[in-house]
Order: sequence, then structure tokens, then C-alpha cells
Amino acid sequence: MWRYYPELLSSAVPRYTSYPTAAEFRPVEAGFHAEGFSGIAAETALSLYLHIPYCDAICWYCGCNTGAAGHRQRLGAYMQALDREIGTVARTLQGRGRVRSIAFGGGSPNAVPPIAFVRLLERLTLAFRALDAEMAIELDPRSYTPEWERIVAMAPFRRVSLGVQTFAPHVQAAIGRVQPLDEIKRTVDSLRGAGVRSLNFDLMYGLPEQTDDDLAATLEDAIRLAPDRIALFGYAHLPSRIPRQRRIDGTHLPGAEARFRMAERGYEMLVAAGYQPIGFDHFALPDDSMARAAANGRLRRNFQGFTDDESAVLLGLGATAISSFSDRFVQNEKNVGRYRGLAGDGKLTGALGVCRTDDDRRRGAIIEAILCGGWAPFEGHPPDADTRGRLQPFVDRGLCSVGENAISLKDDALPYARAIAACFDAYRHPDAQRFSSAI
Ligand code: SF4
Repeated sequence: MWRYYPELLSSAVPRYTSYPTAAEFRPVEAGFHAEGFSGIAAETALSLYLHIPYCDAICWYCGCNTGAAGHRQRLGAYMQALDREIGTVARTLQGRGRVRSIAFGGGSPNAVPPIAFVRLLERLTLAFRALDAEMAIELDPRSYTPEWERIVAMAPFRRVSLGVQTFAPHVQAAIGRVQPLDEIKRTVDSLRGAGVRSLNFDLMYGLPEQTDDDLAATLEDAIRLAPDRIALFGYAHLPSRIPRQRRIDGTHLPGAEARFRMAERGYEMLVAAGYQPIGFDHFALPDDSMARAAANGRLRRNFQGFTDDESAVLLGLGATAISSFSDRFVQNEKNVGRYRGLAGDGKLTGALGVCRTDDDRRRGAIIEAILCGGWAPFEGHPPDADTRGRLQPFVDRGLCSVGENAISLKDDALPYARAIAACFDAYRHPDAQRFSSAI
């Protein structure tokens, strides 16, 4: 049984998909984005991430930068801008780099009309050296049409992530995302038939009106459908920052301890069903590539969360997408109108960013190792007195041990992993409301 220490979970902490986190990104000068490409050599392994900030229907709980796809003209203009940006990035690369993986996320990539998506795939194939790239996509089961079934089979997509969240009809109604279990089953059968080898479900706990038993029933249904991976996230209710969440009745949310017990129950059920825990909120069947990566120490964290992607450079395409270069992070313009303007002018669209110092790299490596494996070496740079002071409450409760050379988390410290990792964050702000609670 996990031990509950509310005082250790009272501060909101980042998810650490990068370090420094996006909260530290600042406006950048023209040229900052292009300079990131200078370290890319002919055979540098690249990953591409393409962001589609549109959905057929907007869910009330969603914190993503996404809008309704109903206005076809707006979506068409965005796809044209993406096409221009692909051309600009390809020209900047000048043939350097080999694309190992391409991921489409959002939003909902399948909000794009099928014919426009096929053109996008052709554009990528012609612009980059990407012939043997592994393809992944996030799909909304509610708009998974027969045309999209053919695209998934043709591409082919090896990895697909489905937004499921919950199977409980009354919870679906409370979060503005109604999708019957039969619809998910049909989508799963179709994806398996199309050769999808790695299927992920995104599930949530801490939702309005959701009881422990609702969560358990959803997990039982999910286990029966046997996705290769399950991400079980805690719902972050931040209506002052995310206006669409104001449609959710905040008086019907589980409290902090109830959320903690839900996360624990999810962990126990998924582990009992044969899933291996990956970091603090992911689970994978033992023969899935992410479980294998975790077992042999190759698990990493990037802007898409836990990953087994080992590419040196991640290039983000589309509004808000983030690129990770050897020495810097760059985030594309978030405002879709301004993004279209920059891309249409043939410019790189990076608007925010940060250079990584040596200290950032050291701290980032420790944070990543804690989250991925529960153990991190200090590589000759043991924590300073300030960091040790922040760690002490966790040490006092037996959740981790801190030596001269490494930090090691105990088995039952999983729910505290983000909070422990945050002790190494030199940028932590008293203004913690920007982040979600650690569990
Ligand atoms: S479909 Fe996904 S990205 Fe779109 S609004 Fe719903 S949760 Fe957000």
C-alpha cells in the first residue's frame, strides 16, 4: 500500500517533459531557431513531431492548444502553412539528418480531411530522408472513419494512441466526451487488423463524478481490450487558465487523498494484469518496445512523455510544436494566425526558446533518470545544500536515499517521483499554479 503524505504533494510540479521546462522559455530573436540546426550532421538521427491543433469536438477537460475543426477554410489554411513550414525546415537541413520516426499529435490528427492528410504524408516523404521512419499517430475514436482506416493501413502506422479517458457513461457526460465502449472496441479491432503493433490508451483518474469503482470498471474494460500501453493521468482542473474547463462542475471532483488512492488502485490493477509500470503514469505489456526500453535503461522523456525514441534531435512542426536541439529548445509560434503568417513568408516559426547551460544538462539528466528509472547518478556533481534541504523531507520518510554519488528512490516512492525530481529544479517558482499536482 502506498503511504500518503499530503504535505509532500501539496506543491504543484511540472511533468518534466524537458528541462528547463516550457515555463522557462522566453521570446527569441530571429536566427535563434536556425542556429539550432547547425549541430545536425549528415547522419544525425531525427524525429519529427507534427502538431494538428484542431479537433472535431472539443472536450471540456482538455488542456491542449486545440480548436474546433468545423471551419474547413481555417483548417485548410493551417495545412497550407504546415506545408510551407515543411519546405522551410527541409531547406534549412540541406539534406542533413535521417528521419527515424514521425509522430502526429494534437489536437486530433484525424480531424484533417483524409485527402489532405495523404498529401501531407507525400510532402514529408519528398522533403526528408524518411523512407524507413516509424510512424505514430494520436486518433480520436469518435471520428475514425473508413477513409482513415485505409490511411492507417497504408501509411503504415506502427503506433497509435487513442484518447479513451473513461468508459463510464456518466463520467463521459460530465467531461463532455461521449464515446460508447462499442465504438472503442470497433476502433481497436480495425487498428489491429491494419497491423498496428503498439496501441496505447490514454485513461484518466480524478475526473468529475468518477468513483473508485468507475475507475476500476474502466480499467477492467481496458485490460480486456489489451492495449500494449496504458497512460493513466490525473485530471488537472485549472479553470482559471483553461476556460473550457469552466463547463466542468468543480464541486464534483475527487479530493486529494481520493485521487491518491485512485492512482494506487490503477497501479495495482494494471500490474496484476501483467503491465509493467513505466515511470510514474505509464504501463506497458512486457514485450512492448517501451517496456523493453525501461528494462534495459533506454527509457527517455521528451515532449510526448515517456519514449523509447533515441533520436538526437526532435523537430517540431506546426503551431506550438517544440523542437529539441543539442544545445537549445525552441517552441513554434503558439498563435495560429501568426504561425500561418511566419510559415507563409517562408520563415522558421520559432518564437520562444531557451539555451541549455551545462548546469541545465546535469540537472535535466538527474530529473530524467529519476522519472524513468528511480535512480540517478550525480556524475561528480553531488547536490548542493539547497537541493539536499528540499530532499530531506522525502529522505526522512524513507522514500529515497541520497548518497555522495547517487539518489535512489524506494519502490513505494512512485507517487512522489515528480516531487522528488522537482528538488533538482533550479527554476522552481513560488508561483506553482502553472503546473498540475504531482498525483
Ligand atoms: S479530442 Fe483530444 S485534443 Fe481534442 S479536445 Fe478532446 S482531449 Fe483535447
